[in-house]
Amino acid sequence: MKNAEAVTFGGSHLDRAAELRPKWSDMLDEGQGDAVVLWRGKPLLLNDKLVRVRLDDAILADTKVPPIFLGRDGETRLFAADISAWTPEDQDMLSVGNFVDQSLQAHPLAPEGAAFAELRQVMSRLSARDAELIATAKAIYEWHRTHRFCSKCGSESRMDMGGWERACVACGGKHFPRTDPVVIMLITRGNQVLMGRSHFWPEGMYSLLAGFVEPGETIEAAVRREVYEESGIRVGQVDYLSSQPWPFPNSLMFGCHGAALNSDITIDPNELEDAFWVSREEIMLAFSGEHPKIKPARKGSIAHFLLQRWLADALD
Ligand SMILES: [Zn+2]
Repeated sequence: MKNAEAVTFGGSHLDRAAELRPKWSDMLDEGQGDAVVLWRGKPLLLNDKLVRVRLDDAILADTKVPPIFLGRDGETRLFAADISAWTPEDQDMLSVGNFVDQSLQAHPLAPEGAAFAELRQVMSRLSARDAELIATAKAIYEWHRTHRFCSKCGSESRMDMGGWERACVACGGKHFPRTDPVVIMLITRGNQVLMGRSHFWPEGMYSLLAGFVEPGETIEAAVRREVYEESGIRVGQVDYLSSQPWPFPNSLMFGCHGAALNSDITIDPNELEDAFWVSREEIMLAFSGEHPKIKPARKGSIAHFLLQRWLADALD
């Protein structure tokens, strides 16, 4: 698909400077560079831009793990720092970590007006560079948080290579950040697209069907299996359209177009709460907020992107 990388998190040609990763400790000792800041997966933002602080900024005093190395922006070395150990006082903490977290946390050492915000709330407003930086940082930190122990011998491993490896001192094992492949599919039949919703989604939210690719499976096979399992719809031709890193927590979405071979829907009630065929005209109504039932997939999601391209007849 033309301009497939225009999707949110579609990348900014960041120079990841992998050749500098072995020099990580030296780079941290030198203290030269800027860091974007995360707190419990939420980026620190000011006016929809990532706040960059110097590596010796006092706000990084709450860092329990070393800043990870993201790459190079001109001559500037870019890092990400996680200050999740900080405990905000007198702030809205009830919804932190929820699917819809609209709370903001202001750090006393951050610039005036800056706050930690849930990435889904702001992702469509970020620059391509900021989106790539924060998607990378969030996914890497989440991987470290959930992979502290060596999967070969069970010993605690340690962060290495700028955060792009975990090394096990006990057995010599090396472990690398994981990305989970997920297919998400625009399934069409004539003028209609298949939309569904999961249990526990915000009221009225419908999106394209999606599911994890299983071992031993192609992307095309995963599209056909997931759609059949969830909705009883058989899919014929499958075409790849666009991909999107999705750091919630570690996925890579493969956006595909599939042609439905039948139209009678039988949902799997364990997977879906509802699914139905929706016409282009209804999707347009949903995008303008005027559909009585459907709130469309969130802006910034690849589902939203693919639906827009479909409406514009621009899948090629
Ligand atoms: Zn080990």
